[in-house]
Amino acid sequence: MVMEQPKTGEGGIILTNAEDLMNWARLSSLWPMGFGLACCAIEMMASFASHYDLERFGIFPRPSPRHSDVMIVAGTVTFKMADRVRRLYEQMPEPRYVISMGSCSNCGGPYWDHGYHVVKGVDRIIPVDVYVPGCPPRPEALIGGFMKLQEKIRREHPLAPTYLMEIMANEPVAAQSPAV
Ligand code: SF4
Repeated sequence: MVMEQPKTGEGGIILTNAEDLMNWARLSSLWPMGFGLACCAIEMMASFASHYDLERFGIFPRPSPRHSDVMIVAGTVTFKMADRVRRLYEQMPEPRYVISMGSCSNCGGPYWDHGYHVVKGVDRIIPVDVYVPGCPPRPEALIGGFMKLQEKIRREHPLAPTYLMEIMANEPVAAQSPAV
């Protein structure tokens, strides 16, 4: 376990093991991909702005999926966009994580009944690690989602992260592309 120490300016010694150190480094530098789909993305952008300042957690958006290890699905996933979302996810390097932000992404939201054009949950096209409820969720809720994800990464074994265990268990990592 990595022990957090107050900054006193004095030198100190921290004892840990390689596994905890690697997990601490990974969870302290999460790089989400900078894209949004609908109104929830406004709250996501507010989370990155100066008032909430996600960068203090080491979290800042990257412009390319190949630089990113977190996808925040913020907004309504229409069938038209589903293929693009899936393709962006597949371009991200492993280990990669997904935060589903808001009711639309979680389950279709207000389009649940009559939204013939909306995917009823992004977990039908890509695997989701953390669900953030709300319509839209406030920035505090998204920050809470990141903290949940950090807890998940803290418990992972660096040599057998979740995605590897899923592959080894021969479980489908994602469902089929939705029918249009
Ligand atoms: S959950 Fe609400 S705020 Fe978010 S994209 Fe859907 S309708 Fe907009």
